[in-house]
Amino acid sequence: LTQRNVLIKIFSCEEILATFREEIAEDLAIIQGTDEQQAILDQIDSELDKTYMTSTDSLAGKGEEDNEFINKDNIVSSSLRQNEPAIAKSLIAEKQMRTFGNEATYIFDKNGNKVFENLWGTTHEVNLEGGKISGNTVTHFHLSGGTFSEKDITRLVTFNGAEFRATTESGITYSMRRGDNAHGSIVGAYNKAMKSIRKDADSYALKNSSTAETFNILKNTKIKQDANSWLVDNASKYGYIYTIESTEV
Ligand SMILES: [Zn+2]
Repeated sequence: LTQRNVLIKIFSCEEILATFREEIAEDLAIIQGTDEQQAILDQIDSELDKTYMTSTDSLAGKGEEDNEFINKDNIVSSSLRQNEPAIAKSLIAEKQMRTFGNEATYIFDKNGNKVFENLWGTTHEVNLEGGKISGNTVTHFHLSGGTFSEKDITRLVTFNGAEFRATTESGITYSMRRGDNAHGSIVGAYNKAMKSIRKDADSYALKNSSTAETFNILKNTKIKQDANSWLVDNASKYGYIYTIESTEV
């Protein structure tokens, strides 16, 4: 039995474990954590996922605004699906969340009833109740912009959500919906793709930047751009419907 397993057994009270998890996550966001620390976090996540709260996050820190790097030809109007009750409620929630200084989330059932809300996430992460996701529409705010993170796609699939939505300050909202032939293997495929996208973005930014500030902007923008392209090209292969909406069109 590893030290980690013992710790998790001791922290059997879920609320204490959730608090402990938040502290580790915050530390890891500031420092470049070791693989071992990341593994502890992942293990706590899977323990908490089973019964209590789960969390989701965004892809990367601040970069260019989403409407600067997203191909306009791929964007549809946010109002297209407003006759669906869950979408009508999501659009109102998204307008509100875009004014926030932290991540936030709402979950609506297909009749548009709110089944969960958490308006107090951090700058890059927000907790939500895993058990409320099944069959429902989860919308959340990415303060730092960008499309779905690896965690977003994992939570959508693992908890069998009908749709995940991520709105950004620019008015662009990303949507991922389960189609008739949805296949869970999208999780592994996206995680794998993101590993190489993150690595490539790192060397791209190193080559093309002269200061730490431009390095981060270039790297974060490249991650978001390539993640979006991957989802545009591949979501339908796994039976998912990926769309990019804007309040401006
Ligand atoms: Zn997210």
